Amino acid sequence: MICPHCDKDTSASEPYCLNCGRPVELDFDVVSEAFDKEAEEKLVRGTELKTRKYLYLALGLLLAVIGARLALVPPVPRPHVLPARLVEPDLSRPAVPPLPLERLALEVPPP
Ligand SMILES: [Zn+2]
Repeated sequence: MICPHCDKDTSASEPYCLNCGRPVELDFDVVSEAFDKEAEEKLVRGTELKTRKYLYLALGLLLAVIGARLALVPPVPRPHVLPARLVEPDLSRPAVPPLPLERLALEVPPP
């Protein structure tokens, strides 16, 4: 609620302004609205806290699973293969064996 004397925000349930100390008229609608707003903010804060708690729990579980995976499961051995540029090519024999060729008997129809 805004104080009519100093134009600053003050509690709607107090009969005096918390900033300037002057008396403030209490209006039922204003007080009710202030309490509703406060209850809604409290609900939002509670929901945020609960959501954040579950988020941190999920993050902790994820880190625990990753840590257990790294600690308990041995790493997969990589095949020991030299890089292609270090392997000497064997040029004495062809890379692909020659295919056996056969003559095909073609039948050509007479003209
Ligand atoms: Zn005031």
